Amino acid sequence: MGKYYTFIGPIAAGKGTQAEIISKKYGLLHLSTGQIFRDAISSGSELGQKVKVIIDSGFLVPDNLTNEIVKDMLGKIDLNKGFILDGYPRTINQVYALEDILFEFGIKLDAAVMINITEDEIVRRISGRFSCAKCGQNYHKEFNKTKTEGVCDNCGSHDFIRRNDDKPEIIKTRLQHYYSEVEPIVDFYNKKKKLLEVDASHLSIEEVTEKLEKLLF
Ligand code: AMP
Repeated sequence: MGKYYTFIGPIAAGKGTQAEIISKKYGLLHLSTGQIFRDAISSGSELGQKVKVIIDSGFLVPDNLTNEIVKDMLGKIDLNKGFILDGYPRTINQVYALEDILFEFGIKLDAAVMINITEDEIVRRISGRFSCAKCGQNYHKEFNKTKTEGVCDNCGSHDFIRRNDDKPEIIKTRLQHYYSEVEPIVDFYNKKKKLLEVDASHLSIEEVTEKLEKLLF
C-alpha cells in the first residue's frame, strides 16, 4: 500500500514544488486541484468555463464542486500507488468531505503536512513565480531558475507565463481567505495526531525536501 499525504500551507510555501519532487522520488501520485482547474481552463471545458472567473479573482472554487472533482479523480487512479494531495483540502468542509471520500475508498491519510512560511516571504516568493506556457513546469526568477535562460528545462519551449492569480492585488485576497480557512483545518488534523509541520521560511528547495523526507519516510 502506498502512503497518503496532503500538503497544506500558504501560497508559495512550495507545496506544489515539494509535492512534485517527493511524488516523483517515491513513486506517489501528485494530485493538485489547482492544476486540474488550470488544465480545465486552458482546455475550455465546461468545468473550466465555470471556474475561470472565480480563480482569476483569487476566490476559492465552491466546496461541492471541488469535492466532486476530487472524488472523481480518486476513482480514476491507482490508489495502491499512494498520493500527495496538493492544495486540497482547503476549507474545513473539504476536510470533512475528504474523510468521507477516503472512507468510501477504504483508505486513510497518513499525515497532513503543513509547509509554512511567513507573510513577508510569501510576497517575496510570489513576485518571482513563472511557468512554462507549454508544459506547465514551474520556475522562480531567484530560487528555481531555468538552466538556460529563456528555455524550459523540461520541454525546450521559449514561452513562459505568469499565473493570473499571482498578481499582487489578487494575492491579498487569496491570503485573507487562506488565514481564515486554515486554522480549523490545522486544529482538525492536530487533534487527530495527523499534523506534521515544516518551517520552510529560509530554506532552499533541497533543504525543505530533505526535511520532508525525514518526516515522511
Ligand atoms: P493552487 O494552484 O493550489 O494555488 O490553486 C489555484 C486556485 O485554484 C486557487 O486560488 C483556487 O481558486 C482554486 N483551487 C485550488 N484548489 C482548491 C480547493 N481545494 N478548493 C477551492 N478552490 C481551489
